[in-house]
This record gives sequence, structure tokens and C-alpha cells, in this order.
Amino acid sequence: AVPHGAAEARAVIATAPVLELRGVEKTYRRGGFFGARAVVRAVHDADFTLRRGETLGLVGESGSGKSTLARCVVKLVEPEQGTIAYHGTDLRPLSRAAWKPYRQRIQMVFQDPYASLNPRRTVGDTIAEGPVTHGEPRGKALERARELLRLVQLDPGAMDRYPHEFSGGQRQRIGIARALAMEPELLIADEPVSALDVSVQAQVLALLAEIRARLGLTMLFITHDLRVAAQICDRVAVMQRGAIVEQGPTSEVFAAPQHPYTRQLLDSIP
Ligand code: ADP
Ligand code: MG
Repeated sequence: AVPHGAAEARAVIATAPVLELRGVEKTYRRGGFFGARAVVRAVHDADFTLRRGETLGLVGESGSGKSTLARCVVKLVEPEQGTIAYHGTDLRPLSRAAWKPYRQRIQMVFQDPYASLNPRRTVGDTIAEGPVTHGEPRGKALERARELLRLVQLDPGAMDRYPHEFSGGQRQRIGIARALAMEPELLIADEPVSALDVSVQAQVLALLAEIRARLGLTMLFITHDLRVAAQICDRVAVMQRGAIVEQGPTSEVFAAPQHPYTRQLLDSIP
């Protein structure tokens, strides 16, 4: 079932565009065997607008360009074309230095909590690292890390422990706390629950939904799993081979899919 009430309540405040992508194109060129070149048009025709307080789901099967599109927003990937407007400012032409203040406002949560957490850093320091790098005194940042642990429903005793001592779901909570430490306005979650067991997925999704409401976060939520999208996204954009083929309110897209590819995805849900 697709939740309605919360989405409608948020729709009232969701007016100002936070992020607008227009004409973004990214092509990967790889050297292949015997000098052959593989060209992958990872993203093209993928315009969308994300409004304040809204959660937009980017859905589509593996390889459809979801991560590339998300990574363009945080400059981990440099697209050849297009505008990436954050509150009306195009981030694409900005130098790394000019772009730095925006980086605080846009944070990412990744799929694999193992890969994205430093095993030699305590949980407290992991969460405090971003603010400390941006000039916050360490004591103050650690104090805030402790509050964030409470927000993600982890015991404060976690502060002095290491990531490997935690389960996958707990590590994802640590990853979320680390992203929130920068007080972002926009959270990009790239397959944040895909590595987790289904029961743990539901817990982490519930936590994200609660935090989003409490902090008024705007979210770009990436998943290959439409059932996951149905649980948390106000709107969904369906990607196929680098293009958004359909987008709209989650309930509408699920009830009456317009594009054959969307219908195919929905039919494949057991
Ligand atoms: P998704 O997140 O939807 O699985 P990706 O954005 O990761 O899709 O990938 C889109 C396409 O771009 C795929 O064909 C993938 O193989 C290719 N691709 C992604 N990253 C790179 C890279 N760093 N170098 C070359 N090709 C890449
Ligand atoms: Mg991906």
C-alpha cells in the first residue's frame, strides 16, 4: 500500500524547487580489448525537479544510470552537458572551491555501510569527522554526534566502538547519522537499504521517514526495488537506459503506469 496522508501533508510545504536537473548528459568511454572503445551513454533525457520537503524516488534496474545521475549532483561525476540547479544556482560550472559550501547542504548515504565507513575510526569520530573538517571544535562535534546517535536510535555507548562491531542495519544508521552531522537540506540516499535483510530494510526506512519529517529534509531516494520506493517516496521517476521514461506521484505511477517499461517493472514484483 502507498501511504497518502503524510505525502499530502508534506505537499503543502513542498513548493520551492530545491534541485532542478535539465539536460544532464554523462557518457563513459572505456578502453576495451585490442583498443576497442566502449561508449556508455549512462545518463541523457533525465530532467526532474525536486521540491522542498519532498522525497523523489529514482527507480529502475541495475545499470539504468541512477547512481551516475545522483553522483553528478555531488560532483563525484562530471557530466558533459546540462544544468544542475540548486536553489536556482547551476552547480555544474562551479570550481571545487566555489562548490564546497553546497557540499555541506547536500549529503549522501550509500548502499554499503561496510565500504563507506572507516574500520579504524570510532563511531563517534566517524560522525564528527565532517563537521571537524569544516572547522567545528572536536568536543562540540562529538557532543552533537552523541545526540545524532539518539536520533538514529543507537545506544550512546556506540560512540567509542568501531563499525565492524555493528550489524548491517546499525551501520546504515551510523551512515545516516554521519550524513546528518553536516545538517544537510538535501539527502541523497543511493540504495540505502538494498544490502539489508527485508525486516531490517523496513526498520531503516521507517527511521528515514521519521527523520525526514522531523528535520524537514528533501530527499532523492534511489532504489531498484519498487516496493521500497512505494514505502517512502512521494513521487517516483522511472529510469531506463539513462533516460527517465515516466515520473509522477508514487500512487499514480503504481496504479496506472503509462510507460511499458514501468508496467514491466511492476509486473515483475512477486
Ligand atoms: P545504476 O545505479 O542504475 O545501476 P549506474 O549509474 O551505476 O546505474 O551505471 C549506468 C551505466 O554506466 C552502466 O552501463 C554502467 O556500467 C556504466 N558505468 C557506471 N559507472 C561507470 C564508470 N565509472 N566507468 C564506466 N562505466 C560506468
Ligand atoms: Mg547504482
